[in-house]
Amino acid sequence: MSIPLQNARLCLDCDTVFEEARCPRCSSESFFPLSRWVRPAMASDSATLRKTAKRASLVLVGSGLAYTAWKLLLKPNSGKKNSPE
Ligand SMILES: [Zn+2]
Repeated sequence: MSIPLQNARLCLDCDTVFEEARCPRCSSESFFPLSRWVRPAMASDSATLRKTAKRASLVLVGSGLAYTAWKLLLKPNSGKKNSPE
């Protein structure tokens, strides 16, 4: 699946990238337009663009990892029973 950058939106509730008016996954209407994030970098020269793109992807990967870690931390131990205090 490919989404043109100008139409790409990032759902703030479930981190899905989509192009519809609302998130197809959780039907949330809170989203962030990715073009607004990337577009300023395109105005500058290609070296800066490359650096910014690299940083942006690092941020994406970093936030993805943070989100996963956060989810894992929030997830209660379903297998084990916690010992009472
Ligand atoms: Zn969503």
